[in-house]
Amino acid sequence: MTTTITRDALTGTGVVDVLVVGGGVTGAAIAYEAASRGLSVVLVEKGDFGAATSAATGKLIHGGLRYLKNLEVGLVRESLAERRTLSLIARGLVSPISMVLPEPGLIEHVGLTAYDVLSFDRNRVPPTHRIPRHRSLSHAELADRGLGHLRSGILFSDAMMLSPERLTLAFIRSAVASGARVANYVRADELLVRRGHVVGAAVTDLVTGLQTHVRARVTVNASGPWARDVLAAQAGTRRAAGEEPPVRSEGIYLLTRQLSDTMVLTVSSSGHFSFAPWRGRTLIGPTETAYTGAVDDWRLTGAAIERFVAEINATSKLPVRLSTDDVVAAYGGLRPLTETPGGDTYRASRASELTDHARSGVEGLVSANGGKYTTARSFAQKVVGQLARKLRTRVAPSRTAQVPLDGSALPDTSGLTLLDRLYGTDAATVRAIAAEGGRLSASATDDGEVLAQVAFAARHEAVVHLTDILLNRTGIGRRGDPGEHVLSAAADIAADELGWTPERRADELGAAAAAVRLPD
Ligand SMILES: Cc1cc2nc3c(=O)[nH]c(=O)nc-3n(C[C@H](O)[C@H](O)[C@H](O)COP(=O)(O)OP(=O)(O)OC[C@H]3O[C@@H](n4cnc5c(N)ncnc54)[C@H](O)[C@@H]3O)c2cc1C
Repeated sequence: MTTTITRDALTGTGVVDVLVVGGGVTGAAIAYEAASRGLSVVLVEKGDFGAATSAATGKLIHGGLRYLKNLEVGLVRESLAERRTLSLIARGLVSPISMVLPEPGLIEHVGLTAYDVLSFDRNRVPPTHRIPRHRSLSHAELADRGLGHLRSGILFSDAMMLSPERLTLAFIRSAVASGARVANYVRADELLVRRGHVVGAAVTDLVTGLQTHVRARVTVNASGPWARDVLAAQAGTRRAAGEEPPVRSEGIYLLTRQLSDTMVLTVSSSGHFSFAPWRGRTLIGPTETAYTGAVDDWRLTGAAIERFVAEINATSKLPVRLSTDDVVAAYGGLRPLTETPGGDTYRASRASELTDHARSGVEGLVSANGGKYTTARSFAQKVVGQLARKLRTRVAPSRTAQVPLDGSALPDTSGLTLLDRLYGTDAATVRAIAAEGGRLSASATDDGEVLAQVAFAARHEAVVHLTDILLNRTGIGRRGDPGEHVLSAAADIAADELGWTPERRADELGAAAAAVRLPD
């Protein structure tokens, strides 16, 4: 049965065990872990679920080969174990991807041997998700993969998300199915502090304008790059906020027409980047650029895209020379780094960080700073263990590594369609909507998305704006501008389903058209 996510009006919540501030993958995984172990949970997200850093990733579910260089063996092992877990609990959304590491030296050979050893249990998964050991490629094999311009290469595998947005939503859905109350477009304005104890947050519903207090025994600050801002908004928690970091790390990705069907990792002046096949496009990134402004002010710019294109061409690792005209979409975000030694963001740890602010005299508050998408679930387990200790309550054992995410229990067959992989067991509901006929049955992308998904999102997935539908519930706007016809048809369907006036429809369409265009 399809789980319907409804934006909670947050009335009559009483005092809940846990308030989660932030509905990226970290907050979503914590809400699911906590609710499924018997705690009462409210989650508030000031934008759309999973639309910030969690949508700005390279879509990799990976051990992170390069963290071995920093000797972060524990993080790599945890990530490799989670790669396997996510393949089991979100089978359609996470699948193996093979990649080439060009011109490897001794360090890379040793590193990949260690990577294989650390992922010793990787093949305790169904056949479609098994991952072979790394091996060297001959020049002929490189040429067969369209990579004849490389002198040598090693082939190894990690995993890739079909849609980070839908994976974060699967955690939100699982939280809802476990009893959590969730609300997107609800901002925590400030934490409520009584005698040195955080007792919840004052929140504003950004759709209705209604303000209310959500009271909780423990509040979890899972607001990613905004973590410090949430703490600094209230005098009683300001001392827990610490210093403003001197520098943050911006990462951007470009989507181009498909340039290669094998993923290639490469090294540039500022760090590693890769080019990877994804849904008929090539995904190139990330950059690693210092950013010193306010988190809310960060925007992707046309200048950043041009700089990156030049940098990619300078490495000569792509089979072709890239022009900005090849770029069909771009996105990015700020990394919620846990430490930044000497301002070198590339070398900063991607480990998650759990801070109990009782250490700085603020009770009832923890900050959960997610370092990697890959480890969000295992991090949530640690966070909920700490919450149970703080609440002095016994919680049920964790089952989130064993039970498929809500709607994700798929058979292991290689013949799944794009809709099966994106929607899991709900693909049947999407197809039933398409069978209602008319424009609902029309195609929305050339790789298998349909306009029925717009109606499905409106009926079941707590959408507020057309951009939520096109970017975060479906991938219709994620592969570049889908064209005026598709945008307009999607706006018509959303307007019908959500009861929009013609003026609202026009505003939503204008905002969506701007969101799928490249920035100036
Ligand atoms: C360029 C880039 C590439 C990456 N690539 C990968 C990768 O390939 N693989 C991988 O494993 N990891 C990757 N990561 C890391 C990964 O994206 C992050 O670790 C993860 O998404 C962090 O999730 P989060 O929920 O903590 O933060 P976010 O997704 O940013 O969520 C925080 C949420 O809090 C909300 N919020 C903020 N303030 C408030 C408030 N006052 N009230 C209510 N809500 C609020 C925000 O709107 C936001 O949605 C990458 C990161 C970047 C930047």
